[in-house]
Amino acid sequence: MKIVDIQERTASIASPIRNAYIDFSKMTVSVAAVVTDVIRDGKPVVGYGFNSNGRYAQGSLLRERFLPRVREADPSTYVSEARDNLDPFRLRDIMMANEKPGGHGERSVAVGVIDMAVWDAVAKIERKPLYRMLADRYNGGAAADRVFVYAAGGYYYPGKGTRELRDEMSRYLDAGYRVVKIKIGGAPLADDLRRIEEVLSLVGGGDRLAVDANGRFDLDGAVKYGDALGPYGLRWYEEPGDPLDYRLHADLAARYQGPIATGENLFSMQDTRNLLRHAGLRKDRDILQMDPVLSYGLVEYLRMLEVLDGMGWSRDRCIPHGGHQFALNIAAGLGLGGNESYPEVFAPFGGFADATPVEDGMIRLPEVPGVGFEAKSDLMDLIRSLFGPRH
Ligand code: MG
Repeated sequence: MKIVDIQERTASIASPIRNAYIDFSKMTVSVAAVVTDVIRDGKPVVGYGFNSNGRYAQGSLLRERFLPRVREADPSTYVSEARDNLDPFRLRDIMMANEKPGGHGERSVAVGVIDMAVWDAVAKIERKPLYRMLADRYNGGAAADRVFVYAAGGYYYPGKGTRELRDEMSRYLDAGYRVVKIKIGGAPLADDLRRIEEVLSLVGGGDRLAVDANGRFDLDGAVKYGDALGPYGLRWYEEPGDPLDYRLHADLAARYQGPIATGENLFSMQDTRNLLRHAGLRKDRDILQMDPVLSYGLVEYLRMLEVLDGMGWSRDRCIPHGGHQFALNIAAGLGLGGNESYPEVFAPFGGFADATPVEDGMIRLPEVPGVGFEAKSDLMDLIRSLFGPRH
């Protein structure tokens, strides 16, 4: 058994939306294909991967460091004899050879792209949906058949007023979502409060609305918004400040009683451990959003979950960033609290299988081997346009 080809491409997910910190006018993602010599249903098994939105494509890192290391590796160093399959942990070690510790954040994205493709291939070789394989290997066989998803949107957009915001949220409710999220911090506080009240009048309760500041505020700004948000009883207050400013989070958590969410811009087990050690987060309410693709992939995410377990945090506090099928499989297979969803942005990478609509805020997973990309036609169309018709 071996990897016979590994390729990367860059795809655009550009759009005119913006949050409090960045716009997406030039946003890209990396897409990878890992081709094996294993035959299933008369064709070679190919695993696919891509990075979550927001950190751009990582083509140069992939071409210069990570793909060559995989291509040059002896297959005996990454194949598990016991499982008769590729070993994602050994492939991770091969990719990270001669990489110093620390400095996570660009290479962690590049490695995560390949990690997703490897897990897709591994589950296809094992002829199982990824979430069932993960449950069998790491969760005592307990796979959730439905996962909580919430609709992330409410971006700032040229010419978008509260009427358009309300219409957008209304579409999410019509599509089956029960919890929605909007951006804050990209407009004056008074304007953001009007936006929040408009959405609350539609969704009917604070526990159905989360807000996301995308790391925009210093401590004074985070507290000022926190004081104003408190009375609404919101689902959560996301990324109030810089993701690595643990003291800011601790000071805010001492004052803001509602749930705080963060973690999508932490890219390693070590940064996650520091967050839990130093950010004053509360095990009974706060939400951890580490992204299993942006942070070196599922191999690293499993290490983060070990840290959580060791520090007494429940996995159901985890609702990963990313809004794609890979994180959904991880949520279902490893007992997480839910998954993000982007109903109207970042397609075709965002979104789930064609035949699994959101129902009462929950979604099922398709019973196809791997991550389930083959059950999402717009994504497979794009993959074929990038890698060729045999995919
Ligand atoms: Mg966010």
